[in-house]
Amino acid sequence: MLGLVHCGSQRIRAICGDGGNRNDVVSDHWIRVIPTDPAFVPDSAAGRRACDLLQGYAPAGPSGSPARQVDVGHIAFIDAGSNFESMSCPWCGAAVDVEWWQMQMDHAARSEFRDLLTRTPCCDVTTSLNDLHYEWPQGFARWWLEVMNPLRSPLSQEQVTSIGDALGHPVRCIYVHY
Ligand SMILES: [Zn+2]
Repeated sequence: MLGLVHCGSQRIRAICGDGGNRNDVVSDHWIRVIPTDPAFVPDSAAGRRACDLLQGYAPAGPSGSPARQVDVGHIAFIDAGSNFESMSCPWCGAAVDVEWWQMQMDHAARSEFRDLLTRTPCCDVTTSLNDLHYEWPQGFARWWLEVMNPLRSPLSQEQVTSIGDALGHPVRCIYVHY
C-alpha cells in the first residue's frame, strides 16, 4: 500500500507498508521566528508574550511540538532546510555563488557568527551575511521562537508584525522543511 495523506495545509505524510505493519516516512517542518538582530535576546516577559502569540497563530498539529523559546547561547545559522532554493545580492540582485558564500560562512564561523560583515563579489558593497536575499528566507539568531509541524502556516504579515511588537524587536520568519 502506498498513499499520501494531507494533514493541515502543508504536511504530507507518506504511508508505505502492508496491513498492520505500517512504516511511516514523515517530513517535518518548523516555523522559526528570529529577531532581525542576530544577537538580540528578549527579557523573559517579552519572550513569553511573543511565544504565546505564535502558539495562538500556529498551534502544533498532532505530530508537532507547541511553540517554545530557544536560546542556544551563541549565534547560529537558521536555515530553511529543503525550502532553500537560492540567494542573491540585496543591492543589485545578482545571484550569489554558493562556493563564495560557503567561504564567507567559514570565515564568519571563526567569530562564532558575531562578525557577519562581508563584501559582495558582484558590486563590492559591504553587507551582512544576515542581509543577503535568501529564497526562502534564512538568517542568524541566538534566540528564537519555534513551533514544529504547525496546523497553520505561513503566518500573515500582520501576525509577524504583532509578534515583533510583543517582542519589542522586528522579526523574520524562517519556514524550515526537512
Ligand atoms: Zn551586488
